[in-house]
Amino acid sequence: MAADAREVLIVGAGPAGAVCALALAQQGVPARVLEAQPFEARGDTRTLALSHGARLILERVGVWDALGAVTPITRIHISQRGALGVAHLDAAELAVPALGYVLPYAELTAALKQALAGAGVAVDYGVAVERIDNGTDVATLHTSRGVLTAPLAVVADGGRSLEAPAPRVRREYDQTAVVCDVRTELPHASRAYERFTPDGPAALLPNGDRYALVWTASTAEAGRIAALDDAAFLDALYRHFGGRQGRFLEAGPRKTFPLKLAYTGSEAGARVVRIGNAAQTLHPVAGQGFNIGLRDAFELALACADVPSDQLGNAAMLAAYARGRRADVAGGLGFTDFLVRTFSNDFPPLRHARGLGLLALEVLPPLKTFVARRMMFGARG
Ligand SMILES: Cc1cc2nc3c(=O)[nH]c(=O)nc-3n(C[C@H](O)[C@H](O)[C@H](O)COP(=O)(O)OP(=O)(O)OC[C@H]3O[C@@H](n4cnc5c(N)ncnc54)[C@H](O)[C@@H]3O)c2cc1C
Repeated sequence: MAADAREVLIVGAGPAGAVCALALAQQGVPARVLEAQPFEARGDTRTLALSHGARLILERVGVWDALGAVTPITRIHISQRGALGVAHLDAAELAVPALGYVLPYAELTAALKQALAGAGVAVDYGVAVERIDNGTDVATLHTSRGVLTAPLAVVADGGRSLEAPAPRVRREYDQTAVVCDVRTELPHASRAYERFTPDGPAALLPNGDRYALVWTASTAEAGRIAALDDAAFLDALYRHFGGRQGRFLEAGPRKTFPLKLAYTGSEAGARVVRIGNAAQTLHPVAGQGFNIGLRDAFELALACADVPSDQLGNAAMLAAYARGRRADVAGGLGFTDFLVRTFSNDFPPLRHARGLGLLALEVLPPLKTFVARRMMFGARG
């Protein structure tokens, strides 16, 4: 494994790392990706919700057209359980082809893998980065196959393997998401549902001929829900969600993942930068986390292309990149945290205020446009 000392080294070929590598290649900045998993590995079974803005990025890096199993969301129905207030978002009203898209994680990572090969980006599969030392002139990466240096190391490891600085913002919600595919009596017709309940939000996202369910509950309750047998699970889901899609007929294997807000940020000093889930982990309620991660990746590539090669990865370049990302990331974090905290309780005055909020969203077109654009494009919508 020999690397060119001028190459940007990217840790992780997940969506953030791969998009960053493709965008760097388009900008003519040499890059190499180090991916712990072997080439043959398929991504896991999770389902991703992509914003319209994320689609634009995937188009720019030449991946969008290669994606097979993408389901558009053209309408979103937003409600709260046990109280008044319903709002509808409609792509046609907002003059966009779709409000968002749903696709399997494995589908996206497979298309990105092909695109990296097609663009001639070097990817070392089966190479795990174990530690990164941050120097003045270079970052030194200790990997399972030896030591490499680079003017810039991009950490896109999903935030779960390399040691990271303590998050600057951290909030534990004591909520866990139960995720699985479900089949409903009525076809989805590209409509998604977001339903707020005092235990946490639940979402149904159209995915192929089924729905991807993200059911949030307190961590103890989520464990109980995930352990129910199929019949009891479908019954509980119907009571939780109501019958807008008819009965729930089938559910795939349930998985759980704990939800939190953690913002470590991208300003790790010169020579090392964090993007995607390595920089921030968000609650899925507003579908912001993944999309912010793609924007990190794309904007970082532009920032790298903006400086002469001898300034690549220096403190000034990374500080400028971090400044450029601040409003988008803070906006996504704040919006998500606001939704989780405002909707996940049963305090009567708040319940009524939420009902009024949903009513306002329904009847005030400028507010609707504001919320929809934020969900589609982030804080700079
Ligand atoms: C369990 C779980 C379930 C989720 N479910 C959903 C969901 O239902 N819907 C949704 O929208 N979002 C979901 N998310 C969030 C979504 O997966 C992330 O937003 C997205 O995958 C982040 O992309 P990323 O590229 O930053 O990280 P990742 O997708 O995590 O990719 C990181 C990559 O880095 C590689 N890697 C890790 N460590 C190293 C190392 N030391 N050296 C080399 N390579 C390394 C990994 O093998 C992987 O390929 C979920 C997240 C988790 C953790």
